[in-house]
Amino acid sequence: MSSSFLNYYRCPEEFAKFGHAQELGPTPGYFHFGKQITCFGRSAAPAAGMPNGNFPDVFPLTQARENEVMLPFDTDEILENLRKERYVGAEETLSFARQLVRKTYYVSRPFLSVGVRKHFQRFHLRERRNISFPAWPIDKTVDNLCAELMALSVRANGNRRIPFVWFWPNEYKGCVIVTHDVEHEEGRDFCGGLMDLDSRYGIKSSFQVIPEERYGVSDAFLEGIRGRGFEVNVHDLNHDGHLFDNRGLFLERAKKINEYGRKWRTEGFRTGGMYRNAEWTDAFEFDYDMSFPNAAHLEPQRGGCCTVMPYFAGNLVELPLTTTQDYSLFHILGKYSLDLWKEEMNCIASSNGLAAFIVHPDYVIERRARLVYENLLLYLSELCGAANLWQPLPRDVAHWWRERSRMSVERSGDTWKVAGPGSERARVAYAQIEDGRLTYHVENSSCRQFIA
Ligand SMILES: [Zn+2]
Repeated sequence: MSSSFLNYYRCPEEFAKFGHAQELGPTPGYFHFGKQITCFGRSAAPAAGMPNGNFPDVFPLTQARENEVMLPFDTDEILENLRKERYVGAEETLSFARQLVRKTYYVSRPFLSVGVRKHFQRFHLRERRNISFPAWPIDKTVDNLCAELMALSVRANGNRRIPFVWFWPNEYKGCVIVTHDVEHEEGRDFCGGLMDLDSRYGIKSSFQVIPEERYGVSDAFLEGIRGRGFEVNVHDLNHDGHLFDNRGLFLERAKKINEYGRKWRTEGFRTGGMYRNAEWTDAFEFDYDMSFPNAAHLEPQRGGCCTVMPYFAGNLVELPLTTTQDYSLFHILGKYSLDLWKEEMNCIASSNGLAAFIVHPDYVIERRARLVYENLLLYLSELCGAANLWQPLPRDVAHWWRERSRMSVERSGDTWKVAGPGSERARVAYAQIEDGRLTYHVENSSCRQFIA
């Protein structure tokens, strides 16, 4: 049985029977599962190392045995490797010069002006354009792999439709969250203006506030955000880029970060600069985290969690960043249009995923950037209505995901129902194969989606 698959779909256990038949090789490496899906981990085939190279397709080694699917890899291991970015470093072939530039950048980053940072970041971008995995701008490997496994399970069960707990409450087809990391004093002072803007378009959002060194944080400032129905979260400790430098320093800082979380009565956290270490996140005592990018080509630390769905990282609900940050759009890519954001929204919506945005108050004070952001707000408010997308505060997404993780689908006569606390908001959905493709139907709604 695969617990990762079970947690993704919340389907009855009898439909999550995945085993692995063959002996798995001792060394993790890259391999294909079908034409489209790149995996990293141990497999039954000799694995290749480089994501750009030729690696074996292990799909033909898959076998169905009664209603059990025997795979040439361990599903839980592969999904964990992707979400925890364990593939990073496996293909590092940076020249010495590039390593030196990168190191210089990391060490001096806190002292660099925006102009100099842009120069370094464009260098990174050129370097990362050559990376084919994760896919840019969005990587859905985790989601595509889960969908492929669901299709295999449907077939192994005689093409019977498989019930699962629909991803979102009610009949929502997807979810959009808007978040604001407050970087500097000017940004802090523009939060009121930004709340006015968001409110004008009916968009709910959270503000991530840095507790120490960057700017003063008064109780009145935090209350001003909460009082208007927005959410406050903790953003790093002092945002100097060194949170994960060594274990001792990290634990010291994590303790202080947790104290600010309690003092400010916040439920969510995001690190500075999207720096992260998937093996250390259990030191954070929050309900949820938002520090993992989907595909980190434009972030200082490369990698990506390869999913557009929330997931559990230990006790934390992880809400991954799935769209390009405003800073990267304006200052690295030099784009002042919605084109990329719209492309990302379409890609996420086609997998019923979570679209998560970061727009900094600091970077939309300037008129040109602010107009682009206003266009985004207008676009999102219209799209959420037209496409029936949920637009809650991040904490409400985390609450839902935690609640959903405790629900199950149970037989009720000839049909199925969702059981567990909060299930009145939940819907049964069915996965089935139509015209050779996996589709989802949400019960009692017109929501019908072709997936793969
Ligand atoms: Zn930040």
